[in-house]
Amino acid sequence: MSEQRAYAPRPCPICRKMSVAAFHPFCSKRCADVDLSRWLGGVYAVPAEEQEPDEPEPGDDTAH
Ligand SMILES: [Zn+2]
Repeated sequence: MSEQRAYAPRPCPICRKMSVAAFHPFCSKRCADVDLSRWLGGVYAVPAEEQEPDEPEPGDDTAH
């Protein structure tokens, strides 16, 4: 009997979709990247709206 260590189909821990062998235990590379980002940065790498502080620099008063 040779026990193959095949991947067991399980839900993706990121999005709960069924995982695929190629990206096990994730469903896609994207979810694998998300998980990796979580480990690296501790935050979700979700494409959210980036809020750029769009403040004009004060102190630019050259009118003398
Ligand atoms: Zn997923």
